[in-house]
Amino acid sequence: MLKDDSLANILYINLSNRTFTTKKRPELFEKYIGGAGVAIQLLHEECPTGSDPLGPENPIIFAVGPLTAMFPLASKTVSMFKSPHTGNLGESHCGGRSAVAIRMAGYGAIVIKGTSDIPIYISVHGQKVYFRDASSLWGMGSSATGRIIRENETGGGLRTIMRIGKAGETLVSYASVTTETYRHFGRLGLGAVFGSKRLKAIAVSGKSSVPVTDSKLYRNMYEEIYQAAVESPVMKKYHDLGTAENIIALNKFAGFPTRNLKEATFENAAEISGEAFAAGYLGRRLACSHCPVGCIHIAALREPYEDEPYYYKTSMISYDYEPIYSLGSMLGISTPEGILKLMDSVETWGMDAISVGVVLAWATEAQEQGLVSAKETMGIKFTWGDPASYISACRLIALQPNDFYKALARGVEYAASLYGNKDSALAFGKNEMAGYHTGPATHVGNLIGLRHSHLDNAGYSFDQKVLAQKQVSPEELAEMLLGEEKWRQILSSLVVCFFARGIYTPDVVSKLLPILGFDLKIEEINRIGSEIYREKYRFKTKEGFSLDELRIPKRIFEAPSPVKKFDESYIRQALAHVKMILEKPEVV
Ligand code: SF4
Repeated sequence: MLKDDSLANILYINLSNRTFTTKKRPELFEKYIGGAGVAIQLLHEECPTGSDPLGPENPIIFAVGPLTAMFPLASKTVSMFKSPHTGNLGESHCGGRSAVAIRMAGYGAIVIKGTSDIPIYISVHGQKVYFRDASSLWGMGSSATGRIIRENETGGGLRTIMRIGKAGETLVSYASVTTETYRHFGRLGLGAVFGSKRLKAIAVSGKSSVPVTDSKLYRNMYEEIYQAAVESPVMKKYHDLGTAENIIALNKFAGFPTRNLKEATFENAAEISGEAFAAGYLGRRLACSHCPVGCIHIAALREPYEDEPYYYKTSMISYDYEPIYSLGSMLGISTPEGILKLMDSVETWGMDAISVGVVLAWATEAQEQGLVSAKETMGIKFTWGDPASYISACRLIALQPNDFYKALARGVEYAASLYGNKDSALAFGKNEMAGYHTGPATHVGNLIGLRHSHLDNAGYSFDQKVLAQKQVSPEELAEMLLGEEKWRQILSSLVVCFFARGIYTPDVVSKLLPILGFDLKIEEINRIGSEIYREKYRFKTKEGFSLDELRIPKRIFEAPSPVKKFDESYIRQALAHVKMILEKPEVV
């Protein structure tokens, strides 16, 4: 039985008739823990098969877990929805204060359905829910929206404000949701789902607390995890330079995608490395709530006003490895300043930085090859290394003034299906590629991953730690990746930051769960991980996903792999093996 039964509270909000209700669902949390495990069940319940991702039936689900507000690095919220980008499973994780605020408001999950007839924002203060007219916020960037809502919503407690920019309103299929200015539900288009509901933002705050039944045991476990986090060299790396530290290493390894993966090393990697960003631009570090690590790196970009000598505008812009890859090396941009300006533009419009960079890299090549003309690009000449052309394009993607930018606003898979150059359209399962070309594991991982994200199963890590040392058959590789992804279902249900995966080991998790009222042995925990995985896969296949129909961009075979030569047949064998396993549910 759950030690804190407020976790079982699910807040259901209907935007069409502006009503809300709370239901207690302890059976859901006892069976699936929380976070991703609970969210996928709610998605099955609330999203009828074949729903329009931009229609009123598509739910927005937020879920937190039993560790939220109790243990270090249990700082993430899982969002689930039907993705307007891929047409199947939409899942995105975000930190900031979102998770702790939802728990402090007294909920384990929030489900939002329906469509408002006018722009609206929701304000949840504990048990109270307010529907506020957001007509005056419609069209604003996410930062300005956050600032105004902060001024309006003065209720006390810990608060989060999740909001969209213009790209969410115009339904860019990879529009993001920003929370606490520097954190995002970035991938798979949650921002467009907000926009389709005319939902500009949701603010959540609360003052409740989480009861502790055995305070001595709790304190000991807390201390053990806290010390592991602050003493870990891996966490020190995340704090010092952040994930941007990987740039030099990946470039040396020849796994750093450059100019749409025409190359896998970038001649200017040192200039845009984590070290260079920190030395020239690092303004401050931040942490999500309940995290002692503080891996969020914020650059201070100081720009002079044109006609005002000695007057400067200083923008604070968060950076890490992924946007430096997608808006830097992928576009051949070789200065931190150029990358930061582009990041700022992407942030203002409210789009996923990885998708934008990959879309623009493809568009640059398509223009070079004469597949799109200046008429289509509205006079913009996409030029490797030129941030200004890409900043102009961001605006046009968000506003979609013609068919070409409408196509770019639906992602690289769709744009290439209309204009050609499919072999260099770097999407896996329709989701744009993250910044790793480390070998077959990263690409197989992207294809079989339920979100088609590098975070699903960390294929890039298997390339560097396993495949660099020994030969691995496609079948062995598929099983390694599946095993990792199933365990990550437990981490996503608890819900802990994946950076802490070395701390929240199976042993630690099995010691923690009894404190929270879960009577689960490790075998049972693993079984639940497999079941959650299978439930997500079931949602995908119900919505038409098929492993057999996945397109493999040929470009990944052209840039040499740093660890192992591989070809399409190696990847297809791995996919066939995954399918064989998943068609025998008892083996999963
Ligand atoms: S390590 Fe970074 S992303 Fe993870 S919880 Fe801490 S601050 Fe947030």
